[in-house]
Amino acid sequence: MNIILLGAPGAGKGTQAKRLEERYGLLHLSTGDILRYEVAQGSETGKAVQKIIESGCLVPDDIMIKLLGERIKNAPNGVILDGFPRNLAQAQALEELKKKQDFAIDWVILIQANEEELIRRIAGRYSCAQCNAGYHDEFKPTREKGRCDICGSTTFVRRKDDTPETVKGRLEIYRSETQTVLPFYEKQNLLKKVDGMADIDEVTSQIEKALKIV
Ligand code: AMP
Repeated sequence: MNIILLGAPGAGKGTQAKRLEERYGLLHLSTGDILRYEVAQGSETGKAVQKIIESGCLVPDDIMIKLLGERIKNAPNGVILDGFPRNLAQAQALEELKKKQDFAIDWVILIQANEEELIRRIAGRYSCAQCNAGYHDEFKPTREKGRCDICGSTTFVRRKDDTPETVKGRLEIYRSETQTVLPFYEKQNLLKKVDGMADIDEVTSQIEKALKIV
C-alpha cells in the first residue's frame, strides 16, 4: 500500500510516518529529511537548496521530482510519502510515475490541525544531534534534563526553519500551494481526513482505520 501523508508543517506527518514504518514495514520517504541529509553531506544539491530550506520556501519542482524519482520504488510493503507533493506540479509528477514505474498511490491522508497549535508545536521542537530522536520543550521533554532518552547524548539541534517568522511563511505556502492538491485527490476518491489535534496514539488509530489496516 502506497500512501501520502498531507498536512501543514507541525501537523505530525513525520511522527505518524515513523509509527507506520515501524508497525507495518512501510518505506518512509520524507523529502525534508532527504534535503537535510543532502545539506549535511555538502552535496551539490545540498549547497543549492540550503538557503531555500532555511528561508522556508519551496525547493524548485525539478530538483524535488528528480530527488524523489531516484528514491521511490515499489517497496515490498509500500511507501509513505511525507512532504511530497507540495503543489499540483508535484502531484502531476507522481501521476507520471504511475505510467513509467507502475507506482500508484492508494490513499492520501490529510492530518488536520489549527494554526495556533501548529505554531506552538513547531516553536518547541528539537532533536538529538546523535540519534535524531525528536523532543519538545513543552509536550515531550527529555526524561533527564539535557540528556537524550535514547542514546544519552547531550547535544541537541533545532531546525533553522522552525523560527516563528519562518513558520508563518511556511504555513502561508501550505495554504496557497499545498492545499491545492486536496481537490485533485478528492476527485479521485483517495482523500481521507484525520484529526491532528487528537493525541498521537489517537491520530495513529484514526489513520489505521482510514487505511482499513485494523
Ligand atoms: P519538511 O521537513 O517537510 O517540513 O520540509 C522542510 C523544507 O524542505 C520545506 O520547508 C522546503 O523548503 C523543503 N521541502 C521539503 N519537501 C519539499 C517538496 N516536496 N517540494 C519543495 N520543497 C520541499
